[in-house]
This record gives sequence, C-alpha cells and structure tokens, in this order.
Amino acid sequence: MEYSSQILGRLVDAFSHLPGIGEKSAQRIALFLFRESRDEAENLARAILDLKEKVGRCSVCSNLTEEDPCVFCRDSQRDSHTICVVEEPKDLLAIERTGGYRGRYHVLGGVLSPLDGIGEGDLRIKELLDRIDSEVKEVILATNPTVEGEMTAAHLAKLLKLMGVKVTRIARGVPFGGTLEFNDSVTVAKAMEGRVEM
Ligand code: ZN
Repeated sequence: MEYSSQILGRLVDAFSHLPGIGEKSAQRIALFLFRESRDEAENLARAILDLKEKVGRCSVCSNLTEEDPCVFCRDSQRDSHTICVVEEPKDLLAIERTGGYRGRYHVLGGVLSPLDGIGEGDLRIKELLDRIDSEVKEVILATNPTVEGEMTAAHLAKLLKLMGVKVTRIARGVPFGGTLEFNDSVTVAKAMEGRVEM
C-alpha cells in the first residue's frame, strides 16, 4: 500500500519482514516509534546494530554471546557433568526460563534433514563430540520432538554411546510436532524432568 511518508513505508516494510509480524502490526510498531522519544528510538536502533556488530558464537557451546566463552560455559556454579543439546539458541532460552536446569549447553545450529540437504557437517556435531571427556557424565538430547529432531537425537545417541557417556532424551511433555519455544515453562520443565535414557 501507499504511505504519505516514504520513510514510514520503508520502516513498515522492514518490520513486516520480521517473524510473526504482519503488515498491520508493522504499521502499529512504526507509528508507536514515531511517538516515542528520540532516546528510546536510538536505544532500539543501537541494540540492533550492536547485535550485528558485537554478538557472535561461543567457541565452546555455540550459543550467542559477546563474551567468549559465554556466561553458561564460564559459570563455575553450573554443573559441568551434564551437557544439554538443543537445536537453536531459542530452545536454550526455553529451558533456561524453567529455572530447573543448571548444567551446560550445546547448540547444534539445526537438525539433520536429508530432504533439505542438511547433513552432519552442517551442524556442530563434531564440536559436541570433542567436548565429551571424563568430566561429562550425561548428555541430554533436547532436540524438538519433530521427525527431524527425533532422527537427530537418535543419530547423536548412537555416536555418544560409542564414547561411553550416558545419553538421555527429554520426555514427551512437549507435544509431537511442537517446538520448545512455544510451550509454557511447566511443560518444558516436565519434559526435562521426565527425560529417559536412550
Ligand atoms: Zn558457551
């Protein structure tokens, strides 16, 4: 549609490309920002640029961070005997929100998906296997309960068991076909509690 201000139109267009934001929501956000103070708008613009300029991957777990290693890998209060494997940083956030897990993490960067041409080399699987030493007692596979997530978990379980480490899978507290991100904290916590050995 046509806008009386090209700049407004450009901003609406930019927001409508964000996940979960349609054109109407994009318009509301753009108009809201017009009414906001310059400081608020600058904070937002700066945070977006900082994200692109300063945030990278943790060299240990591949989570997003501006300090390497990240806070979860550095924190000596966290249990180094357990590594929880997730697909993406958003899944790590879903588990952190439960407040019930105090071990380490490993972010795979996706799942195996032969149809999409995503194989072992496209995920951080080698990096995970490199982390398995005598200190690690358990690896929790918390990939999502989708077809690809289950296949990836089964593949990882096979590799990890060869290394002699205990492998567990989160329970089906999370509905099949769902994702961790869109479940409430209790459901995600139950899934973590009810994990089973693979
Ligand atoms: Zn880390």
